[in-house]
Amino acid sequence: MNRIRCAVILAAGIGSRLRSIHNDKPKGFLQIGDKPIIEESIARLIYNGIQSIIIVTGYKNHFYDDLKNKYPFIKTIKNDHFETTGSMFSLFTAKELVNDDFLLLESDLLYESNALQSLLHSSDKNVILLSGATGAGDEVYVGVEGKHIVNMSKKISDIKKLGGELVGISKISQELYEKMGSHIDSHQDKKTNYHYEDCLTDLAGDNEINFHLIEDLAWIEIDDEQHHKRAIEKIYPLICRRDSEIELQKRVERNILLNPGPATTTDTVKYSMVVEDICPREREFGELVEGIRKDLVRIVHGEDSHEAVLFASSGTGGVEACLTSVIPDDKAALIINNGAYGKRMVQICDGYGINYIKYDIPFGDPVELDKLEQFVNANKNILSHIAFVHHETTVGILNPVGSISEIAQKYNLEIIVDAMSSYAGIPIDVNKDKIHFLISSSNKCIQGMAGISFVICNRESLQKTSAYKRRNFYFNLFDNFTFFSKSRQMQFTPPVQIFYALRQAINEYFIETEEGRNKRYVEMYEVLKKGLLELGFKFLVDEKYHAKILTAVIEPEDKNYDFNRMHHYLYERGFTIYPGKGAKLNTFRIANMGQLYKEDIENFLLTLRDYLSSNRITLNS
Ligand SMILES: *Cc1c(COP(=O)(O)O)cnc(C)c1O
Repeated sequence: MNRIRCAVILAAGIGSRLRSIHNDKPKGFLQIGDKPIIEESIARLIYNGIQSIIIVTGYKNHFYDDLKNKYPFIKTIKNDHFETTGSMFSLFTAKELVNDDFLLLESDLLYESNALQSLLHSSDKNVILLSGATGAGDEVYVGVEGKHIVNMSKKISDIKKLGGELVGISKISQELYEKMGSHIDSHQDKKTNYHYEDCLTDLAGDNEINFHLIEDLAWIEIDDEQHHKRAIEKIYPLICRRDSEIELQKRVERNILLNPGPATTTDTVKYSMVVEDICPREREFGELVEGIRKDLVRIVHGEDSHEAVLFASSGTGGVEACLTSVIPDDKAALIINNGAYGKRMVQICDGYGINYIKYDIPFGDPVELDKLEQFVNANKNILSHIAFVHHETTVGILNPVGSISEIAQKYNLEIIVDAMSSYAGIPIDVNKDKIHFLISSSNKCIQGMAGISFVICNRESLQKTSAYKRRNFYFNLFDNFTFFSKSRQMQFTPPVQIFYALRQAINEYFIETEEGRNKRYVEMYEVLKKGLLELGFKFLVDEKYHAKILTAVIEPEDKNYDFNRMHHYLYERGFTIYPGKGAKLNTFRIANMGQLYKEDIENFLLTLRDYLSSNRITLNS
């Protein structure tokens, strides 16, 4: 069975009966919950595994076109004749964009996730969703026979055997879509004022078009003020309740990972890996990778200037690829070393005999910009790059990318930023901060599975490296980039399922938005910080340098304290914490990345408090 990955939303209509409520905006921009119903629908589609959404627009199309800036998986196309044509004309406006089976939806629907799931899980190829009686006032009744639909009408007397009411969500196969197309082509009279529902019933005689009835489906189409009122008072709360119940049922047992990656993922990211086998040399997989490459760059706002190069490796592989590919033989990199990951850059350069100068800072102390600049100035003749870690995950310090970049610009150096544990958690703009190479991986703040590293490269900077003497093979940035650009294939076997998970994780990132994710992380950090301070803990790093994604906590001196015992106590209760790593004082570390919420942190703090009191550990204050 083919998985459905595409949805088409018909959104050309005017919705004239609702003007008083939504000020002339298109119907999809009515707001019942915390975002317009079209955005609710989009989020619901993404959380059910849909990967691309085509919106057919018409009336005030710019509202929908603007959504593309927020959600890169959306394409829009305008039906220029929306005022005089029916929904069939709109549906076929999207002809060039539709090349697979799809879900078809109307833009003004509020519905529970079960509506989508039942169609997605149905083994029938063409399915129209029906509900029990709604009493909405403008119901479309659907006549059926056996499993098939026969006709539809607003008059119940036209219906011989009632199957239910039409919802406006259907699953349409590519084959049926093509037949619908030929049907209008051969009936000139049906070109303009014809509706897709009518076409489906016209074709129902010769084609298997089935229905799926959900008797008490929570849904509503909002056409007038009565509907609007009912949506707010009754249907929307019901939808929220039902959807949260579905989430609870599906939930894979959830561990709260407070280690600095791999981070806790959503269930939808986990499930997205269960897909049919595919050879990664197929065009379809190439398109998946291409889309991911584009969106990874978009997350750091480098669409016009940067390219993502992907490797099958953990994050360190990306750092190794970058350092071994971009530093010319006759120059050196200045490596800022204020944590284990800065040190790792040094180790990589040692391993390959790459020239570098180390700028050492005790682990846990911030970069002093004046001193750094003096150091750069003293070595300016041999340097080509400044390499450093953005969020130094060893200690939870945020190195100031903007200020370091300014120093680099002054001396005409490029910068290499290990943004492994900040990318997608802290807003980054590669153009604003003039970042030439930025490295991250699939399993930290982007919230996918471990197995893919990527380097986001400024195009000109990457191009320059093509002339450099080779030190590496698998990890050559330029080779991987040119191979992919030419063939749209990864140079070597990619971790196929991890790519599907990354696709889903990126889509969920755009649904949550850059600000939304950062806000959630910062809120968790604030709860954590406050709770730890209340318990009497102290932090390694001065608060003003905290990255707010990981906190290094100084270990208690009490003789009853033992990290391994504390770790075990918490682990048994579903919380995974992490030991310290080479800092100037002994620490343990708590990260707040991944699909976690304030409540998870609150529960963690309660469990930590229980551990302390049951072991009679006191914290000196
Ligand atoms: C996690 C991390 C890495 C890479 O770790 P891998 O185990 O190779 O994925 C590198 N740098 C920083 C700053 C990190 O947080």
